[in-house]
Amino acid sequence: MLAAKVVMEQGIHVEGINFFTGFCVEGHTHAIREKDKAKPKRNNALWVAEQLGIKLHIIDVIEPYKQVLLNPKHGYGANLNPCLDCKCFMVGQALQWMRDHNFDFIITGEVIGQRPMSQRADTMPVVQEESGAGDLLLRPLCAKNLPPTLPEREGWVDREKLYDFSGRSRKPQMALAAQYGFTDYATPAGGCCFLTDENYSRKLTDLWQARHSREYELDDIMLLKVGRHIRPSEKFKLIIGREEGENKFLEGYRKQFLHLRSTSHTGPLVLIDGEVNEQELQLAARITARFGHGKTAEHVDVEAVYPNGSVQQLHVSPLPPDQLKQEWYI
Ligand code: SF4
Repeated sequence: MLAAKVVMEQGIHVEGINFFTGFCVEGHTHAIREKDKAKPKRNNALWVAEQLGIKLHIIDVIEPYKQVLLNPKHGYGANLNPCLDCKCFMVGQALQWMRDHNFDFIITGEVIGQRPMSQRADTMPVVQEESGAGDLLLRPLCAKNLPPTLPEREGWVDREKLYDFSGRSRKPQMALAAQYGFTDYATPAGGCCFLTDENYSRKLTDLWQARHSREYELDDIMLLKVGRHIRPSEKFKLIIGREEGENKFLEGYRKQFLHLRSTSHTGPLVLIDGEVNEQELQLAARITARFGHGKTAEHVDVEAVYPNGSVQQLHVSPLPPDQLKQEWYI
């Protein structure tokens, strides 16, 4: 927001690009979870573009992003976040877009030293080099700490009016935001990408291990964002809606998965990911009963519906808490 504004103040036409990898947090769980109800249900990139009065292009990179996540040359951060490779990839995509649309250079809001992996003095040139953007990549917020880029050397941008921010503190950015009258802005760090989340990364690792393959589709990674995931065996796991919003979201997948729900008591919708035999189905039904209002009842009726539409009725006793093993929770 600041980087765009700084450049726009020089009379330069700016348009925004937002890449959708499938791992983005906002606009998804915020719209589902009760605990996130207070958070604005907005796409922050769109909202920022509106504040700035610029066009925003939302680009779906789900497919090409797989290679970035699966084979990051520079490795992962604390979790499954391949931040440096991700940034090289996104700037590379922006470069392609820039060329295709006759734009002249790229700006990002990066600041030297802001982030431990992708915004260090030694990694910022890596992004320029590996993305192919070279000196067409201008970082207006810390440009004065970096060698002049082509837009500065050519005088398209006045270097003197750019900034020399550095380090983890965001105080200078906040002061600049106040100067521009920006009182509301998106989370400045983390929390926007599920790959930085420890729980999410664990579920993704589990999915890959259970499938003996690191392939994934959009539905797989969306489902990892929702529900309680319990794996009683390598063959299958249960995805249990934790509240009404999640049950509704999981409903959208009920034609693709064997799913269970209690018919005698209120309770969650449960999707079964994987293959189950009769004994395992019984166990899944007992776990389903455990998470519903019939958890203390002697018996609970559970309906299992298969993707082909066939239905099986089960009459089970809820699994006692001491039999619900901790290690099953992913
Ligand atoms: S937090 Fe996620 S989107 Fe952001 S650079 Fe890292 S991997 Fe990419």
